[in-house]
Amino acid sequence: MAKRDSGCWVGVDLGGTKILTGVFDAQLRLLGTAKVSTRAERGVEVVLERIVRCVREALEAAGKSTGDVAAIGVGAPGAVDAARGTVRFAPNLPGWRNIPLGRKLTRALERPVVIGNDANVCALGVYEVELRARPRHVVGVFVGTGIGGGLILEGRLYEGCSHTAGEIGHMIVEVNGPRCGCGNRGCWEAVASRTAIFRRIREAVEGGENTVLTEWLGEDLEDLRSNDLRKAWKRGDKLVRRILLQAADYLGIGVANLINLLNPEVVVLGGGLMQALGPELLPRISRTAREHAMPGSCARLKIMASRLGDDAGITGAAVLARRWALSTSSS
Ligand SMILES: [Zn+2]
Repeated sequence: MAKRDSGCWVGVDLGGTKILTGVFDAQLRLLGTAKVSTRAERGVEVVLERIVRCVREALEAAGKSTGDVAAIGVGAPGAVDAARGTVRFAPNLPGWRNIPLGRKLTRALERPVVIGNDANVCALGVYEVELRARPRHVVGVFVGTGIGGGLILEGRLYEGCSHTAGEIGHMIVEVNGPRCGCGNRGCWEAVASRTAIFRRIREAVEGGENTVLTEWLGEDLEDLRSNDLRKAWKRGDKLVRRILLQAADYLGIGVANLINLLNPEVVVLGGGLMQALGPELLPRISRTAREHAMPGSCARLKIMASRLGDDAGITGAAVLARRWALSTSSS
């Protein structure tokens, strides 16, 4: 179909606090973007309206109309049934249970809509755009509020038998460790995510330790952000360096587990924490991972930080849309 060859792809990154949309040309070059706040607390219908608004604004920024769109991809947080186009459950979107997101957006925008889990979608974007789909086995690790993962095995996104594969943030790495949002203790994201780092810093400050962060932000460390950690690191702040290196060691241990399980060619790290602190943390993560992985498993392995940053979600969602269109046109 001519439309699929010449049309544009739209990628939507639906997050708990913001919605990002990108419009891409046929070769997946970014033409325009838009960003709106999610307002998840106002309920499902409001969020749906805001996604539609964000898509229209991005199309305007790109100088395109809905008629130019071949397909729209959406990365949604939580458990997604890609085949049905439904969000089964999203911990950061109150009230989202079995929401037929694909069908509702298709109706509102009158274009085909495909959805996927946000971390899976990010991995797909990094794989196809940044890595040019060259390696066969890639693990994507996205570190932010939690730790999300996406597995590309034999060149394909691996979803498992009920589409929940890649929940690497809930691998238990410390028995009886800190409580995780999922209810278990000692999950990887409970010891190595940005949330875990912030919690350790706050506990240390409450315990009387000194850090430049309290001079900048006050004793309660309200509004603490990843960029503050980078600035404190550069200033040589001992507390921040110790806690970040500890988190890097935990990240390396988790990566070693993934290497032993999957023997990938590439482990690519992304997400907000890596965007802010990639150059500082990557060498330590890589060293710890290699030290703990089985001998022989790292022979052809590359551990790297993604350059896509915040654009990984919209890029991956556009890739998802394009993959879907190509698969339907060839079958
Ligand atoms: Zn967990």
